[in-house]
Order: sequence, then C-alpha cells, then structure tokens
Amino acid sequence: MNSLAILLLVSFLGGVQNESSSFEVSHRARSLQPGEVVLVTVRSQLPLTRMEGQAFEKTFLFYPTDQDTLWQGLVGIDLATTAGRYPVKLKGTTSDGSSVQQSYELQVEHKEFPTRRLTVDEKFVNPPGEMMPRIRRESKRVSQVFAGLNSEKFWEDSFLSPVPGAPTSGFGKRSILNGQPRSPHTGTDFDADEGTPAAAPNRGKVVLVSDLYYSGNTVILDHGQGLYSYFAHLSRFAVEEGQMVLPGDPIGLVGATGRVTGAHLHWTVRLNGTRVDPLSLIEALSGSNH
Ligand SMILES: [Zn+2]
Repeated sequence: MNSLAILLLVSFLGGVQNESSSFEVSHRARSLQPGEVVLVTVRSQLPLTRMEGQAFEKTFLFYPTDQDTLWQGLVGIDLATTAGRYPVKLKGTTSDGSSVQQSYELQVEHKEFPTRRLTVDEKFVNPPGEMMPRIRRESKRVSQVFAGLNSEKFWEDSFLSPVPGAPTSGFGKRSILNGQPRSPHTGTDFDADEGTPAAAPNRGKVVLVSDLYYSGNTVILDHGQGLYSYFAHLSRFAVEEGQMVLPGDPIGLVGATGRVTGAHLHWTVRLNGTRVDPLSLIEALSGSNH
C-alpha cells in the first residue's frame, strides 16, 4: 500500500469515528424539571479544543477537565419549561478545526410549584408612580448584566451555601403579595439574622453593587460562562464592582432592605438567562472536582 492509500484509509476511519458514537454522554442533576441545573459530561474519542451545547434555544459553553477528551457543561432548564423531550446538540472542535456533533436528549418532567402568600409594605406591591422610572431603569440594568456572556470560566469545583442557615422559601413559588398575584419567586431564601456575613458561593467577578427598589442592597457576581449569582436585601456591602472574590469571601451582611417581611438572604442564579434554583446548582456539582 502506498502512503496515499494509507492516508486515505486513516482519514476514512476518522470520518467513520466522527459519524458514529464519538461522544459518550451522561448527566447529573437533582431532577430533570423546570428550574434545575444539569451537569452534562462528555467523553470524546478525539481530543477537543472547544465544545458547546445547544439546548432550549440557548448556547451553553462547555469546559475541559484535566483531560482534553473529557468535557463538562452546565445546562439550565428554565422555570417556565414545559414537560417534554429536549435535545442537547453537542458540538466539539478538534485541533485540526473539524467539528464533531452529536445529540443527547433530556426528558423534562412536570413540576408544580406551590403558592406563597405574603404581606409586605404596600409601596412594594403598588409602587408610587414617581418610582416607576427608577424601577424600569434598575430592571433594564439587571437584565443587561444577566445577558452578558463572559466566555472565561471563573467558578471552580462545587458551590457553597452563602450562609449557614437553612433555605426557608423555595424557588419558583407563585407569589401572592397583599392578595395580588405577582411574578414567581426566582431565587431561594435562606434563614439568617441581620448582620450575618453572606459569603461568595464560588469564585467570581463583582459586576453590580447597588441599592435596588425591590431587592434592596444587591450584589451580582459573574461566575463566568453565563453563570451569575444575585444576592438581595443586604444591610451592608463588603465588595466593590470590578473586584474578584474567592469562595467564602464576604460580599456583605444579611439585612432586610427592599421588599421583605424580615431579615433573610435571597440568592438568585441565572445560567445563560435561564432561571434556575441555586440549590440545584449546589447539588449538580456536589462532589465535583471540576
Ligand atoms: Zn427571596
């Protein structure tokens, strides 16, 4: 066989590998339901230089582990997702620039979220007209922060709980405030006394430190690759915008600022715009070394 024939044979075999099951895919999640974070692990036959997954009409960036054939990515199932089968279209790039594609399926189950009824200061249910420009401005600013996609990955290993206290009010609850239906609870509340230090759950860049109408003193951390943490109702700030924080670093003190019934810590997580439960993020990555 001459060298050209060998080359052709090798490239033919390479092509066959790409078409058949090039990826061995698995996932880990608390459950496959609305509001859950899913850790997708991909073992590739060929070393890759880049990988991404498209799911729920969004692109989720994947990251290499200590091996260039073993990649992971976090996929968010938004709070409003209906039950059904959803593809995760995986696309890897090899060192020669060719792409390897494979589809994986997630079977999302239905979830019924309970309703919570709260009584808060009337100005937080029907804000005075003069507050509306401020509320609109703040809502736009927060949306812009969450829409950012920093391709760098700042977070490492697993996520920590920001306070020692137990979660008290669950994610996704329909909210009835002073008898009027309002948007669902898109975070998880943790029991903590006023003045308790709130810690960064993972490494991240501080991208917003501001007093907002509804959430009071608020800190947003960019963990990279489209993953954000938002902490609300703080009494004091311990960070400044632009600063990098490490897991466990104080970001502020727990308080009762904004629309609250008492002191607690509210933690919201956004993953590429999907509204997901922080507790599911902790669970998906627990025991993870990557
Ligand atoms: Zn809350």
